Amino acid sequence: MSDAIETAADAHTPAETPGARDLFSKFDALINEREAILAAGVRDPFGIVMDEVKSPTLAVIKGKDTILLGTYNYMGMTFDPDVVAAGKKALDDFGAGTTGSRCLNGTYQGHMEVEDALKDFYGTSGAMVFSTGYQANLGMISTLAGKGDYVILDADSHASIYDGCFLGDAEIVRFRHNSVEDLDKRLGRLPKDAQKLVVLEGVYSMLGDVAPLPAMVAAVRKHPNCMILVDEAHGMGFFGPNGRGVYEEQGVEGDVDFIVGTFSKSVGTVGGFCVSNHPKFEVLRLVCRPYVFTASLPPSVVATAATSIRKLMGAGEKRARLWRNSKTLHGGLRELGFTLGTETPQSAIIAVILTDQTQAIGMWQALLELGLYVNMARPPATPAGTFLLRCSLCAEHSEEQVGQILGIFAAAGRAVGVIV
Ligand code: PMP
Repeated sequence: MSDAIETAADAHTPAETPGARDLFSKFDALINEREAILAAGVRDPFGIVMDEVKSPTLAVIKGKDTILLGTYNYMGMTFDPDVVAAGKKALDDFGAGTTGSRCLNGTYQGHMEVEDALKDFYGTSGAMVFSTGYQANLGMISTLAGKGDYVILDADSHASIYDGCFLGDAEIVRFRHNSVEDLDKRLGRLPKDAQKLVVLEGVYSMLGDVAPLPAMVAAVRKHPNCMILVDEAHGMGFFGPNGRGVYEEQGVEGDVDFIVGTFSKSVGTVGGFCVSNHPKFEVLRLVCRPYVFTASLPPSVVATAATSIRKLMGAGEKRARLWRNSKTLHGGLRELGFTLGTETPQSAIIAVILTDQTQAIGMWQALLELGLYVNMARPPATPAGTFLLRCSLCAEHSEEQVGQILGIFAAAGRAVGVIV
C-alpha cells in the first residue's frame, strides 16, 4: 500500500515528469531570463519591498530612505489625516470586511456613501463601485458588449480593457494608438446596425500621453450605434476644473456615456468604479459578473475613498503643485539629455525611454542605489517593444525633492552611460 502511494506521488513530481506534461514549461524562458538577471547581481525590479512608508513620497527600502517616483499616489491622499481617520472609524464601527457580494450581504451604508460621493464628484445620476479598477473594466466592457456587438479599442489600451474584451463575447477591433483617422476608418468598415462600444483612455499610462478626445468623439459620432467609455484612471483628481479627468478638461462631458476609474491612484486606496447618466445604468448591478460574483470592498476602504473623493473636489492647490512638479521634472530631464515619452509634459507620468533591457535595468538599479524608486516597464506592457522607466509625480513632492530627483538622474545616467 505504502509503495503504491509513493509511486503515485513520484509520478506527479514535475522534476521526474517529461516536459510535455508540465503546464509550467511555457514559462521556462521567463524563469531562465529572470534567474540570469538576478545571478548578475541585479535587484529584482518586480520584487521591491517597502519596509516602511514614511509619507506619500518617501519609503524605506532595504534600510535606505528612498524617494518614491513610481507610485500612482498623484494627489498624495494616502496619509491625509481625515482619510486615515475615516478608515479607522469604519474599521471600529463596521468591522474588517463585508464577507459578501454587493448584491447579497455586502452593501453597507459606506458603499452607498462612496457612490454618492462619486455622483457628486462627477455630476452623474449613476455610480457603481467595484472591488478594483481592473474589475470595473472587466465588468463594464464584458457586460455592455455581448455577442454580435463590437468593442473598438486603442491598441495601447490597459490590460484590464483587453481582458474585459476577452471576458465578453463581442468582436474586438483595434485602432492605432491615438489615431483619429484609423478609428474613423475602422468604424466605417463595421455593419451600420451593429451596436458598438468605443473604449478610450484619458491618459495612457506607459508614456503619459493624453488622448485627443474631441477629435475622437467627433469621429465616433459620424457612425451610428456607438457608445463611448473613457477610462480616466490616470486623469482623475487633476485634469479639468473639477478634477474629473481629461474628458472634462477637453470639454467632451456631454459626449461620453461611461467613465471608468479607480481608487488606487489619486484617491489613494483601492477599488474601482463606473459613473454614467444612462437611465438604465442600475440594471448592471444584476447582470455584471465581476460586480456580482465577488466580495465587496471592506468598510474601511469605502470610508477612506468617500472622504478622499470629497476632499479632491477642493484640491486646486494640490493640482497646481502636481503640474508644477511635472513641468519641472520633464524640463530638467530633457535638459540632461534623456529621451522622454512625450515632447511636452502632458500628465503626471513622465517616461524615460531606454534602448534595451540591459540599459533599463542598469539605470533602474543605479537610481535605486542612489535612493530613488521608479517603475521599470518592459514589453508586453509597453508600446512598440520599448523599455522605459516610468516616473510618476505626486502633489506632495517638495521642490527640494524634485531637485534631488534630477540630481540622482544626472548621476545615474552618467554612471550607466545613458547621458554624457
Ligand atoms: N485602467 C488603467 C488605465 C490602469 O492603468 C489601471 C491600473 N494601473 C487600471 C485600470 C486598474 O486599476 P486598479 O489598480 O484599480 O485595478
